[in-house]
Amino acid sequence: MISTDKNTWNLFRGSSYSDPFDYPDLHRRNILRAGAGLASAPLLVGLGGCSPGEQETGRQAAVEETLPPAVLPVEALNDQVSVISGAPGNILVLKTDDGLMLVDSGSAALAPSVRMTIEHHLEGRPVHALINTHYHPDQTGGNALFGEAGAAIHAHEITRQWLSADYYVPFENYWVPALPPPGRPTHTFIEKESLVLGNQSLELGYLLEAHTRGDAYIYLRDANILVVGDVASPLRDPALDWYAGGWLGGRVDAMDDILEVANDDTIIVPAYGPVMTMADFREEHVMMWHLWERCSTLVNKGRSAQDILDAGVMDEIDRKFDDPYKFLYDASKGLWAHYTNFGGNVV
Ligand SMILES: [Zn+2]
Repeated sequence: MISTDKNTWNLFRGSSYSDPFDYPDLHRRNILRAGAGLASAPLLVGLGGCSPGEQETGRQAAVEETLPPAVLPVEALNDQVSVISGAPGNILVLKTDDGLMLVDSGSAALAPSVRMTIEHHLEGRPVHALINTHYHPDQTGGNALFGEAGAAIHAHEITRQWLSADYYVPFENYWVPALPPPGRPTHTFIEKESLVLGNQSLELGYLLEAHTRGDAYIYLRDANILVVGDVASPLRDPALDWYAGGWLGGRVDAMDDILEVANDDTIIVPAYGPVMTMADFREEHVMMWHLWERCSTLVNKGRSAQDILDAGVMDEIDRKFDDPYKFLYDASKGLWAHYTNFGGNVV
């Protein structure tokens, strides 16, 4: 049972903790609610506890919403497969004789730009199929636009559940409404699913508790391109949506699974940032394994996120995170939520 006691949420907010996700749409909804005179007090409290980066995200979302649609960058991976970036993340596009297949649909604010980009660069073909890697609004905000136009929407069953019901965001203390029915997945899977689109065979697979609880990979077998959503994060700090079930143990297991599916020549497409070689992905895999081993050991000994930071764990990896405390906070929350899975002896 979720508590909505104010003191509980103040504990979650803390003095230095900030929202673990850059959710332009969530912030946009907050802004709209405040403008309508609803929930304005929680909004002010929330911003008071935000990091400068988070407030920047809110401003960026407001700007996105007021700007006219624009053509976004497109990178061709081969004759049939392209990646639209800046939506705000990546959208993979597969071109077939029948139409287009998208992996993820970008944010709601940028959906008109995605459609314009398709019209300009991809011959305006209809979008027949859309696959979501997970439920986050920066991957599913354009679902309704393409669903209303007739696209079949595929996702893991848990992602469909998240998108079909209102859900609570603890750090901002408000509910995100369900997507309208045309934006909800129409075809779901549990473990794996095979699809054939045009001359391309696709495999959809579950990545258990890697970033949310409904993450999927999409493997374009013939093109040898593997889309992994936020389970690889070469640009932004890796995010663990612990409130939705994502945690470090799930993430490293999922990265193991991705290595099983891929081969040396596979191209990895993350939710944000440049496409990755397998060498890039293996490097991130090693880093996440190290963080898993160190964080799980220290959390098991009762150490806090601040203790782990003070112990210098984030200095042991090659990469510099933008907000190492935020990562460790989310990692700790996820580890506590799964303590029975890492040998914790907690009563
Ligand atoms: Zn995400």
